Amino acid sequence: MHQDHRALGLAPLSTVARNSVSGAIDIAQGKPVQPVTLVRPHAAARAARFFVEKFPGRSMYAVKANPSPDLIKILFDNGITTFDVASIGEVRMVARTVPEATLCFMHPVKAEEAITEAYFKHGVRTFSLDSMEELEKIMRATRNASDLTLCVRLRVSSEHSKLSLASKFGVSPQDAKPLLFAARQAADALGICFHVGSQAMTPEAYADAMERVRAAIVDAAVTVDVIDVGGGFPSTYPGMEPPPLERYFETIHRAFESLPISYSAELWAEPGRALCAEYSSIVVRVEKRRGNELYINDGAYGALFDAAHIGWRFPVALLREPESTVRDHPFSFYGPTCDDIDHMAGPFLLPADIQTSDYFEIGMLGAYGSAMRTAFNGFGSDETVIVEDEPMASMYAIVEREAASNVVKL
Ligand SMILES: *Cc1c(COP(=O)(O)O)cnc(C)c1O
Repeated sequence: MHQDHRALGLAPLSTVARNSVSGAIDIAQGKPVQPVTLVRPHAAARAARFFVEKFPGRSMYAVKANPSPDLIKILFDNGITTFDVASIGEVRMVARTVPEATLCFMHPVKAEEAITEAYFKHGVRTFSLDSMEELEKIMRATRNASDLTLCVRLRVSSEHSKLSLASKFGVSPQDAKPLLFAARQAADALGICFHVGSQAMTPEAYADAMERVRAAIVDAAVTVDVIDVGGGFPSTYPGMEPPPLERYFETIHRAFESLPISYSAELWAEPGRALCAEYSSIVVRVEKRRGNELYINDGAYGALFDAAHIGWRFPVALLREPESTVRDHPFSFYGPTCDDIDHMAGPFLLPADIQTSDYFEIGMLGAYGSAMRTAFNGFGSDETVIVEDEPMASMYAIVEREAASNVVKL
C-alpha cells in the first residue's frame, strides 16, 4: 500500500519506493543505494492502544525516544494525549504537531528561559525537579505560579535495567524529605517520579522503586497527588526477551494501591522505548564481506548508535528471493564512515552465504535508533517508506492474536 508521504510530513519518496510497497522485501528488490528507513504506523498505533487500554493509569509518551512528528500524531490519534518533553525544542515541536496535547516538562535540570516559555507560551503546568535550586528556578520562571504540578524525581536503582539512569538525576533518599516538603508548599499538586533505567528486564524493578517511594512519603509525611513510574518498559530484542508487559502493569498497580497516598491520587507512566521500538527498521546493503565482518551502508553515526556503543543486538533478516537455505552464522558489522569505532560487534545471525550487494533488514530501531542519526562523513539518508508488514518482533502482536482466539472460543 502506498500512502501520501507529503501529508504525513515524511521525506519525499525516491524512485525505489514509488511503487506500492507492502514490506521490507519489496524495498530490497528496488536495490536502493542508500539505507532506507521503514516505518510501521500500525505497530505504533497498536502499542499506543495497548498502553491506553491496559496500563492502570495515564500513559504519556517520552518524546526523546523518537521525536518523529508522524509518530507523535499516530500516538495521539490512538489515545496517548500527554507527552513527556525534556527540552524547549521538544516542547515547541510537540505543541506544533498536536496542539491539543498536554505537555509535561520532565527534565530535572532546565534552562530558566525554557521554563518561562513552556509555562507562559505553551501552557505547560507539570515540571519535574530534583533539587531546591531547581524548585526556586521553576518558581522564579513562572512568577510563583499557583497552578503547578511539581514532580520530585527520586533516585532509584537501575540494577534490573540494561541502561542505567541512576547516577545523573534524582534526589537521594536522605535529601528527599526537605525537598518534598518545600515542593508541597509551592505546588498545587505534588508528584513523585523516578526512572528505573531503560529496558527494565523484570517488573521487580518497579516494585523496588515503589518501596523507595513509600519510604520517602512516610519520612516526609506529605500528601502526594501523583505517582509517576517513568519509563523503562522493555521491548524485545535477541537475547533480551522480557516477560509480558501485563506483568509490569500488575506489579505497578499492586504497589500503587498499597502506597500511603490520597484516594484520588493519580498513577502516571512515561514509556518511550515500548511505544516506538516496533515503529521502524532499516534496510541496508552489504558493500563488502571480509570473513565474518560485513561492511554495510549504515552504522554507529546512523541508526545503529546503540549497536555500536552499548553492544545492543538488533534482529536481522536477509532480504533475498529465493530465500537462502544456508545455515545462520554469526557476523559483526562495520558502518560506512572512515572511523574504526563505527563497528557493531553483535553477533548478528545471518545466512552463512551472505555476500556483497545482498540486502538485509535490521529491526526494532524505532527507539533511540532513528532519533540519533547523523550525517557524519556524508553518509546517511532521509529516505523513509511506510510498510504494512509486521515488525521483526513484537510485544503486542501475540497478545492481539490471543485476544482474537479468545473471542473465537467464546
Ligand atoms: C528517557 C526517559 C523516559 C523514557 O524511557 P524509556 O526507557 O525509553 O521508556 C521516560 N522518562 C524520562 C524522564 C526519561 O529521561
